Amino acid sequence: MAELIDEQVCPYCDRVEEDYRSHWDNDSTTVNCSFCDKEYHVTAHYKFLGFETQKICDECGSVEDECFCEIDEGED
Ligand SMILES: [Zn+2]
Ligand SMILES: [Zn+2]
Repeated sequence: MAELIDEQVCPYCDRVEEDYRSHWDNDSTTVNCSFCDKEYHVTAHYKFLGFETQKICDECGSVEDECFCEIDEGED
């Protein structure tokens, strides 16, 4: 496998694409260099870091981190 770098560099003109224009999805695609306007192929590779599991709120369907429902604990 080719060496991976954390910047998206055009293989034609060797110029670094700005982060916000770079391709970050974990699959491959064809992009147009914004400097030389040539098309090239990009694949983003990510290390698998592990699983995170969370409950999902019955009320709003959001994961716990994003749920703001007041859970009624029934204090009476
Ligand atoms: Zn280029
Ligand atoms: Zn909720």
